[in-house]
Amino acid sequence: MGEEAMRWDLSQLVDGASPDLVKGRLSEMVEEAGRIRERYLGKIRALDAGGLLRFIEEMEAFTLRYEGAATYCRLMYSADSTDDTAKQLNDAVRTAASKVGQALAFTEVELGRLLEANPGMVDDPALGEYRHMLERRLRGVPHLLTETEERLVIAKDRNGISAWSQLQGDWLSTRVFTVEVDGIEKTMPYGEVIALYQSADRSTRIRANSVVYRELGKDELLWSSALRSVCSDHAQMCELRKYPSAMTQSLIDNDVDQETVDSLMKTIDKGVGVYRRYLRLKARLMGLPKLGNWDIVAPLPNAPEKDYTWDESRSLVEKAYTGFDGELGAWIREMYSRRHIDGEPRKGKTSGAFCSTWLSGRSAYILQSFNGKVGDVYTQAHELGHAVHAYLGSRHQRPSNYEIGSCIAECGSTFGELLLTDLLLERARTVAERQAILANVLDEFGMAAFQVSARVWFEQSMYDAIKAGVLLDGDTLARLWTEARDRVYGDAVEWLPEMRWEWTMKAHYYIPNYRFYNYPYVFAQLFVFALYRLYKEQGRGFAPKLKALLSAGSSRSPMELGRELGFDVSKEEFWAKGVKQAEEFIDMLEATLK
Ligand SMILES: [Zn+2]
Repeated sequence: MGEEAMRWDLSQLVDGASPDLVKGRLSEMVEEAGRIRERYLGKIRALDAGGLLRFIEEMEAFTLRYEGAATYCRLMYSADSTDDTAKQLNDAVRTAASKVGQALAFTEVELGRLLEANPGMVDDPALGEYRHMLERRLRGVPHLLTETEERLVIAKDRNGISAWSQLQGDWLSTRVFTVEVDGIEKTMPYGEVIALYQSADRSTRIRANSVVYRELGKDELLWSSALRSVCSDHAQMCELRKYPSAMTQSLIDNDVDQETVDSLMKTIDKGVGVYRRYLRLKARLMGLPKLGNWDIVAPLPNAPEKDYTWDESRSLVEKAYTGFDGELGAWIREMYSRRHIDGEPRKGKTSGAFCSTWLSGRSAYILQSFNGKVGDVYTQAHELGHAVHAYLGSRHQRPSNYEIGSCIAECGSTFGELLLTDLLLERARTVAERQAILANVLDEFGMAAFQVSARVWFEQSMYDAIKAGVLLDGDTLARLWTEARDRVYGDAVEWLPEMRWEWTMKAHYYIPNYRFYNYPYVFAQLFVFALYRLYKEQGRGFAPKLKALLSAGSSRSPMELGRELGFDVSKEEFWAKGVKQAEEFIDMLEATLK
């Protein structure tokens, strides 16, 4: 297959329309938002249940009508931020979205006031399908500002926080790094250089880590200015909106409660010894007295040298999902055959990977930089798990019930990774292969559950510092980062000094209204390990349960969805099950040494 197979076909989003027509659609979107404003301004707070239902349905139709054009512009830009058309379309969609947001800011405020005055409306049978969505809105009511203030917030974010965030992303995606690989100096963009972290050659890994963070550290003034502004802005907004803590907005967005997150984080704090046990075992497997930070996600030295082609990766991932459930497998095949995945590494492309839901197309689009490593195959399986979620959710839920908090949003993806693991273990013929696969699962687990927890602690420490009047300059941020990191790793790992700049490249820290993005990954990782235990017990009978979970969209809370599976997620005992599953994988790995 040619390189085209690795590039996505975005034309389906807009039925092949030209960029000018797409811009026209965006203007129509702004005009229609204006008409909705004229029709409903000042009237939502007087609606009865039937009227509210019609309003919600109208808003959903509006969302679906322009989703394709807006997604087209955003995705085109994320695939190549240096392309002139993409730049123009990205600017057009940002401007249009900001105008629509401002025009319709009153709807959230008025809906809040309506529910505040009539909390019983949440239980009205006419609105039964939207019950949980309305409950979530009601939870946000005490934190709403006036309509004028909400409009001002959107306007300030556009050239404030959003601009910092875009600068951070653009800066990172346009940096180039020169690293010596196999005796030859190579210059490459960030999306490519990070693949070297998983090089089989230890000295290449050290050089890659060192070059990247030395270079990023040189711009610490830029990164720290951006991050300080984003965090100070959030701290101020918390005061204005009367959020009791810096995490409250995230708890509401993710549809979880503080008790659940506290139990989760306490379990992690108590479980660091399990992770360190794995890190020491990995050092033994690598023949080292201790791991360096450049070894944490590295392959084992005796791991079979294997690069995967795009087609091999595709075939593995298709098989992993098909083996679990035929319908899921068919959707995965469709994602490849309709070219909904952009895997080609190139300069100007957003680093990392994501899956963008396409509700009106009942599908999704995926972006990743595929460098042929086993980690890239895992990323593909992960993002396709999100796609499966989109396929199920868009078929079973209305758009208003597809505002999935990240705790549940990461379930399909993380489960998909375990399906791939099962398939790879089944095919393993040698001890070395088995060790490589288990180490990879545990590497991923360690990152998602423990390393990510360090980031939660880091984020919390920034708000504590702001509260204490400490200036978040580059050195302070670096100190907070290393403190949070060491709480997880202790003395199990040795760090390059330049790793203190690791926080600079974490895009999510800079994204507006996206605070405390991390703990849902910890939630999902431990939740999915618990699901995996159920799957191992129940076999094929488990597939309908997972599909029901992923079909629920945001129509029920994660706590409710947990209960439906027999889990009480507010208790540490539940989360300990996830850590237990990790210990089992560690035991399996240790047993290969005997
Ligand atoms: Zn994900």
